[in-house]
Amino acid sequence: MVDNPFESAKKQLKAAADLLGVDKRTFSVLSQPKNELTDDIPVRMDDGHTQNYNSFRIQHNDALGPFKGGIRFSQDVSMDEVKALSMWMTWKSALAGIPFGGAKGGVICDPKVLSQAELERLSRGYVQQYVDNIGPDKDIPAPDMYTNSQIMAWMLDEYEKLTGHHAPGAFTGKPVELGGIPAREAATGYGGFVAVQEIAKLLKLKPKSTTVAIQGFGNVGHNAAEFLFDAGYKIVALSDSQGAIYNKSGLDPGAAMACKLEKGMIAKCYYAGSVTDKAKARVIGNDELLELDVDILIPAATENQITAKNAGSIRARAVVELANGPTAPEADKILHQGKIPVVPDVLANAGGVIGSYFEWVQNNYGYYWTTKEVNEKLARIITTSFVNVLERSREHKVDLRTGAYLLAVSRVAKAVQLRGGD
Ligand code: GLU
Repeated sequence: MVDNPFESAKKQLKAAADLLGVDKRTFSVLSQPKNELTDDIPVRMDDGHTQNYNSFRIQHNDALGPFKGGIRFSQDVSMDEVKALSMWMTWKSALAGIPFGGAKGGVICDPKVLSQAELERLSRGYVQQYVDNIGPDKDIPAPDMYTNSQIMAWMLDEYEKLTGHHAPGAFTGKPVELGGIPAREAATGYGGFVAVQEIAKLLKLKPKSTTVAIQGFGNVGHNAAEFLFDAGYKIVALSDSQGAIYNKSGLDPGAAMACKLEKGMIAKCYYAGSVTDKAKARVIGNDELLELDVDILIPAATENQITAKNAGSIRARAVVELANGPTAPEADKILHQGKIPVVPDVLANAGGVIGSYFEWVQNNYGYYWTTKEVNEKLARIITTSFVNVLERSREHKVDLRTGAYLLAVSRVAKAVQLRGGD
């Protein structure tokens, strides 16, 4: 079993590259990041001592456009995880047909124990470290796990101070006041909702009778839940890192979020009458959530959740990946054999980077669109990608992930070949 995400990412690439017959030189370019940047960031803590935080910026490929991808603040983040995430960004942008490459950043830290002032100094420190490597036409960071628009605001401010000019397109996922766009915050969840609608249509499922379980209740899981709930889908299970709740008659994600904010964890929302009621609901574990008998399973937390160990126990009719890398390659095979389609991350969670693209375009343009316009354009990209991926996977008799990779990898490979060089 592979639980190193970069090994998984390389396996996925190899499967597609073999089918495409990618030449050796191009394959070696695609299978490793172009730049692996890492350094310690010294941060002055509130008590006066200096703490060093290990950080990364991995730039996988920029053949189609500037490197693009979020920055993750987490105690568990590692070099190999960020390398995998940077490669997935390359395929995600290429599949969406937006002119970006792939990158990802990370800082090993526990953001929950940092004060706001420490978080600000860490965010500014990150930019001081990588200022020469980022920029609107070089590498454009964005939020990811445990980073948000406030962190992007500090990073942008530091970048503009150091470079001496305004450059709103250097970061996306910014606050609206600093050139962000209102649709960006919920964009990944919105794109995920569009992906669910597509797979539901394919399986001939009607929203009202379609049950959904969502693992992860951060920005992505929560927003996707809200869009699905509003469209009439029945959300029967929700979870955060500390546990899950299940109610076969359905949960209201808005009430669940209000309760989570009040009680600190979703599993404590079991007794709150407004969210779920004791007679019909129960607290379950995160593992149990994955194995529920539901129509749509949405992993929206972290990597490597569906593995060779539990893939055989998945009972959902389809999996829609809103996390990056939640399904290990061995599990993909088991699900494919079991005829459970997996709408892959590079398609299903692309709404975030597509939203970022629209933010960046508007920053470059200095002219802003309405949220409706942004969401319509975003939905169109996800729907078109879905149709193309489905067609490609049917044509080659492969799963949807491989179909998505065939499209994405061939686009990047072509750009690498056209550029030539060594
Ligand atoms: N962090 C998001 C992702 O994994 C968004 C990246 C971006 O907007 O650049 O897709």
